[in-house]
Amino acid sequence: MKYVRLGDLLLQSGDITPAQLEEALRLQQGSGERLGAVLQKHGFITEQQLINTLRDQLGVESVDLNSYAIPPEMARLLPQNLAKKHMAVPIRATPSQVWLAMADPLNFMAVEEVGAITRRRVVPVIAASAAVERAVRNLYSNQGAMQAIEAMQRDLRQYGGSAPAQSTPVDEDEAEAAPAIRLVNSIIDRACTEGASDIHMEPGEDGMIIRMRIDGALRAIIPVPQELQRSVISRTKIMARLDIAQKQIPQDGRANVTVRQESLDLRISTLPTIHGEKVVVRLLRKTPELTTPEGIGLTGDNRERFCRLVDNATEGAILIVGPTGSGKTSTLHAMIDRLKSEEVNLVSLEDPVEYRIDGLCQVQINEKTGLTFANALRSVFRQDPDIIAVGEIRDGETAEIAMRAAMTGHLVLSTIHTNNAVSSIDRLLDIGVEPYLIAGAVKGIVSQRLVRRVCPHCRTAYSPSPEERAALELPAGDSPFYRGTGCGECFGTGYRGRVGVFEILLIDPAIRRAIHSRSLKELEAAIAASDFHPILENCRQLVLNGVTSSEEVHRVLGGI
Ligand SMILES: [Zn+2]
Repeated sequence: MKYVRLGDLLLQSGDITPAQLEEALRLQQGSGERLGAVLQKHGFITEQQLINTLRDQLGVESVDLNSYAIPPEMARLLPQNLAKKHMAVPIRATPSQVWLAMADPLNFMAVEEVGAITRRRVVPVIAASAAVERAVRNLYSNQGAMQAIEAMQRDLRQYGGSAPAQSTPVDEDEAEAAPAIRLVNSIIDRACTEGASDIHMEPGEDGMIIRMRIDGALRAIIPVPQELQRSVISRTKIMARLDIAQKQIPQDGRANVTVRQESLDLRISTLPTIHGEKVVVRLLRKTPELTTPEGIGLTGDNRERFCRLVDNATEGAILIVGPTGSGKTSTLHAMIDRLKSEEVNLVSLEDPVEYRIDGLCQVQINEKTGLTFANALRSVFRQDPDIIAVGEIRDGETAEIAMRAAMTGHLVLSTIHTNNAVSSIDRLLDIGVEPYLIAGAVKGIVSQRLVRRVCPHCRTAYSPSPEERAALELPAGDSPFYRGTGCGECFGTGYRGRVGVFEILLIDPAIRRAIHSRSLKELEAAIAASDFHPILENCRQLVLNGVTSSEEVHRVLGGI
């Protein structure tokens, strides 16, 4: 392949204009990014266009890594660090040649280096960059698990018993660790790369299956042979300091591990089943992006309102509302993260405590022992609090104390399980809170849902029908909508990951008067007259940007 420049190729093919190339080269300067990436990032070209042009102009083959099974032994051919460095993955090899899937087949450095290390001629194959990235991660993370399983089986044949369990932390040198530890580590590592919320280790008749909850649904990930089941379960229990001899009663505990420099809390619970103990590991991530407004999905006007609401608050109440599984807890934590400082006493009442946060006094609510939200709130008052986060307002008593606290110089953050801002005020009235308390205390209400993101690997644009546009209150036009057609990356669902959608109500004097009057109609009119952007606006933006689909918006908002 002779030396060619991507910019020239794309000019020749007519994919970009000279002005666009010039602009992209300017943007590229000093960014350390490759030109193809810059062109895509700024919307001058889509990845598929880029792939097609490179394929046609250079005669390079393309591969859909989503439907291509890379042989596990490829991991031995190219070290992981090189694959990562060049975002390139070997997909096939003969004694003299290796086919290398890469997003940028013009990356000669990568081709040369891989050629030198594999001692084979490199045949570049073009693939979508996200698919290459995932293929690299999957190839090496599954390889870890498979090697650990092989090693455990060897040990078993050699010693006739299960491998000795050791209590080495997960972040120690993995090569030195016993195979059971390595296997559990690679399972946790895999869960992290998949963005899973839970790992289920499920013993069955013919061995154990490891399933992971990804975007709300369970997926089978790795089978573990029956003879290794016990050591994997034991190792997992040891991490949480559970009694490994006790297999007949349910146990639960916590562990902290470090995976890829990320500190991760695990909640580990066991349940005796007829095939042995089932273990569920909940992953409680402390990723910084989840505690920023952007991390939870706040953009544009919503982000600005959120910051205005939280940053200016020294007293009063801020409510976060939505149904179960709408991301309220993440939003509460994003607020806490913004507010916590050395100068304030921030107390958080939670049920359950899901994440441990530094610089914060967290109280575990326990209804059984009588430490209810209401009782805990009363005790917190004697501890000179500035800011109180109440995990959830469930009853009139808690609501009343919280509102009174908000009226007497404290800032109260809480969640309520209702559908929107209006219904949350209605609920507070309903459980007996006086209108003047609500009107006086509440500063703002954040209402939210989680929508699934369209899978970036199989996203396709289509022209929606006029009805479909009208359902999102969009006028006739030619802007496309997007949907996922289903692929290996999204387990055929067309969706990958989730993002919050929001509407934020800032309580102004007119709304305050309407709350005071107890008239729902007046309240709705006051909200309509204010500068309020309903959640549908946020959803519409995501549909137009291809982040989510209109079907998903309908599913989540229900019949709009
Ligand atoms: Zn997909």
